[in-house]
Formats: sequence, C-alpha cells, structure tokens
Amino acid sequence: MQLRFAMTAKLQFSAEFSEEAKTAFGNAVSGSGAIFSKGVPKDADSADVGHIEGAPRIEGNYAELTFVSGPYTRVHDALFRFRKQIPAVLGKFRMGLREIEISGYTVTMTGAFPEVFRVPALPFITSSRFQGDQLVLELKVTATDLENRIPDRLVRLIEEKIEAATYGGKGEHWELLFESGPKPRYSEKDPTTEMLEHGWIKHAPARGQWIFGPPAVQLFRAFETIVMREIISPLGFSEMIFPKMVPWEVWMRSGHAKGIYPEVYYICTPKTRDPAYWEDVSDYFKVTGEVWVDEIRKRIDGPIGGMCYAQCPPFWPFVQGETLANDCLPARVFDRSGTSHRYESGGIHGIERVDEFHRIEILWLGTAEQTVDIAEKLHGAYHRVFEDILELEWRSAKVTPWFMAQEGMVGGEASCGCGSRIGTTDYEAYLPYNESWLEFQNVSINGDKYPKGFNVKIQSGADCWSGCSGIGLERWTAAFLAQKGLKPEDWPEMVARLVGEPKNLFKFL
Ligand code: ATP
Ligand code: ZN
Ligand code: MG
Repeated sequence: MQLRFAMTAKLQFSAEFSEEAKTAFGNAVSGSGAIFSKGVPKDADSADVGHIEGAPRIEGNYAELTFVSGPYTRVHDALFRFRKQIPAVLGKFRMGLREIEISGYTVTMTGAFPEVFRVPALPFITSSRFQGDQLVLELKVTATDLENRIPDRLVRLIEEKIEAATYGGKGEHWELLFESGPKPRYSEKDPTTEMLEHGWIKHAPARGQWIFGPPAVQLFRAFETIVMREIISPLGFSEMIFPKMVPWEVWMRSGHAKGIYPEVYYICTPKTRDPAYWEDVSDYFKVTGEVWVDEIRKRIDGPIGGMCYAQCPPFWPFVQGETLANDCLPARVFDRSGTSHRYESGGIHGIERVDEFHRIEILWLGTAEQTVDIAEKLHGAYHRVFEDILELEWRSAKVTPWFMAQEGMVGGEASCGCGSRIGTTDYEAYLPYNESWLEFQNVSINGDKYPKGFNVKIQSGADCWSGCSGIGLERWTAAFLAQKGLKPEDWPEMVARLVGEPKNLFKFL
C-alpha cells in the first residue's frame, strides 16, 4: 500500500509578522529539508519524505504551511520537527507560537483493495472516496490529535482491515510440530453425554455452564495434581491469585480492548448501595416472583469491565511501572484461583466449549532468552505428561495469526531471529467420537507485548519478555474421557490411582 499525506497547518503567533520576521520565517521554511531527512533510509525517494510544499502564506500574526509526505517523516512529524525550530527563528522578533490549527488533512492510499473491503465508519474521518485504485481520506484533527498519532493509528487500522479482508476472517497459519501417533482407545462416545448419563455433571442454569459433581471434580483434581507434580513444581512456579473482575484499564494495556467485545461477560455496579433506592425492586420480586430486569438496567453503572477472559492480564498491575532486579528473574508464577468466562458462539453443547471454565494459567517473565528457555522446558514437561502419564493421542502445532504470517514472522522465514520465537503453540487431542482435534491447552511466547503495555523494565536494561500457558481443565477432561472412556480400569495407572474410587454421592429417584 503506497501512502501519501497532505496537511495544511495554520500557525498563530503572539505578534504580527514584520518584514524581517517574514524573511526569517521564509528562510527557515526553505531550509527545513535537513531536519526532515533525519532517521530516513538513505535510499528513500525524496517524494516519500515529509517536507513543506511552497512558501508560507503569511497574514497578520498567522502563517499557513502545507506539508506533504509519503511514509517517512509523515506530515505531522514534520510539523512538530519544524515547530521546534520556531523559537530560534522568531524569538528575536518577540513572537511566540500560540496555536496550531489543522485546516486540512488528507491521506491517500494506493494499492490493491480486496473486493469485500469497505471503509469502516471511524472517528476523525470526515469523508472517504475511491478514485480508481486510490482511497482518499479526509481527516478532521487537532494538533493534540496529531501528537497522539491519530493518523498513524487510522492508517494502521485500515491496513489491518484490508489484510483481514484479503485473508478472510480469523485465518491462522497452522504448522504441525509433533504428532504422537495412535494410543489405546477405550471409547467412541461423546464424553459429555457419557458424564451426563453417569451423573458426573449436570447443566447449570446459565448459558454454557455446568455443575461438576464429585467424580468429575476427582478427575479435575487428579489432573491438577499431575500438573503440580510434573510441571509446576519442578519448573519452580509459585502460586498467586489474580483478580477475576477485570477493569477496562487492564485490557487497554494488554491489548484485549482491541477486540474481545463479542465474547466478554460485562460487569456493572449499582448506582448506589442505598437500600431505599432498591426497595421497590426487591418488593417487585416479592410480589410478582419475577426479577425486575428492565428497572435494574436503569439503576446500574458501567460496564466497568468484564469477567476474567484470558486470566493473565490482571496479573500485570502487580509489576506495572516497576524495574525488576536481575536476580529475581525469570519470575515464574501461576494462578488457579477461579473461573474464566466467555460468551461463546451458539450451539454450545459439550464441556469442551463452555461459557464458564476452569483453567490453570502459568505465566513467566524475564529476558528474551529466559522466556524462550522456560517455554522450551514447559514443552518438554507437557510432552512427558501427555506421552507417559495420560497416554493421549495428541499433537502440537505452531499457530500464527495471519497478519504475523504475512509479515514473514513464521518459522525460518523470519527476517530477524526474534519473530520466529514469538507466538503460540497449540496442543490438540484427538476426539474419536467426532473425528476431530480439540485444542486443550497452549503455550505462548508473547515477546515484549505485556511488559511494554504495563511498562515493566529489567535492571540490566535488557528487553523484558513474557510467556503464558493456559491449561483448560474442561478441555483436558473432554480429551481424556473421549479417548479413555469413564471406566477407571481402562485408565493409565497414575490417573486411576489419583482419582481413586469415583464417588457417586447422589442417587436420584
Ligand atoms: P478456541 O479456538 O478453541 O476457541 P481459543 O484460541 O479461544 O480456543 P485461548 O484463548 O488460547 O483459546 O485460551 C487458552 C485455553 O483456554 C485453551 O487452550 C483452552 O484450554 C481454554 N479455553 C478457551 N476457551 C474455552 C472455552 N470456551 N471452554 C473451555 N476452555 C476454554
Ligand atoms: Zn495468558
Ligand atoms: Mg475461543
């Protein structure tokens, strides 16, 4: 995509231009090329680099300038670089810069636009039109908007949407890393149906929610014990408790604010906790037996955030703004203190895709090398658990979002060594009953994304990286039971021993 920017800026000064001031200002404009070429690649086309077009138009205490640029020293950067020169040029005439008004800002993008691409309604864009293979955007922005890099963000967002339209939806680059091969199978049945029939679980009233009876929880706890003994303890992770109500500020920093809205369980607070304010709502239920939802909706604030979605973001305020001592790294923690919630797509039936789920989240941070090293150790430990303890039919795959695949960050194609190490490995298990593969956990190396977002530094000055791994207990259970069935005598020895005799406490008549 070729980029062109054009901007007209009206600079207001504290005094009128004298003839000498006009000349000095005009000279500063015509000699400004050098300040704009700083940091620009040597072989860049001069038309691609920001500059001031023509002479300034001066009237009274105003000077109007037209900036144009390609991708380098974009017009707003050029404006701010030029602004820095002004005191030296006009100070001797006792003229100070009062205000900058942006009277026009145009972005022209030239390239191949996919058929399905439509310019979305976006703030700051007052008009958009296609001229052949060009998209012309008019922006209404202030100098403060420019300081906040609004045009860069808009362009980036539109480029992302063009790529999304090109690659279609949520395409992922999927690359097989390991496949276990066949393992003993003792079931061809849907584990959810089986568990229901055996009274291990029951539907809870809310969407995608289950009540887990004692035998199901025995299995959950057996898995937890295996994870503790074989993975978490030997690799030196310490337990923490992360909050489960996540305010917007956390998701703004973690980046989740970019897109989780369709899947969030939102959280609201009462406008007041004065019982008198709520009395009629209470009485309504007492009289009608119905909850007065329409009225409640009017008396709550927010949403102030949502329920735990990805589990690790609410850890980060613990280290936010801190510099970590070299000798406490790599820091290794985990959380298993509560549920995660997602408004999943309809037709949720089994325990493998639920709106409320239980997950052990492992999180670590340190230098890039430390972060990658721990990820590798985790992969090794998981491998042993799935092969030798759970005897699962499983595989692992590197999954890369399409935009990263596009940037050549996959495998050996990476231009620098760093890209190929960042990313997610999914672990999948085979479900004989529907002949599909189920992602039951993952390991991600997130690079500096979270440390940057939460402003975390390392004493040595090295870049701080982090990783995380989510072990979904419903997914482990679904995978295990789908392959091994519900009879402990068919299970691998350690699992059977840890579970013990399934306790079926309730007898329904
Ligand atoms: P999927 O593509 O299956 O929806 P995901 O990519 O959304 O999975 P992640 O966001 O990577 O999953 O979540 C990490 C882990 O959390 C998963 O590997 C899985 O164990 C668990 N998990 C995620 N969503 C659910 C769910 N709806 N029900 C049960 N477990 C889940
Ligand atoms: Zn995470
Ligand atoms: Mg999902």
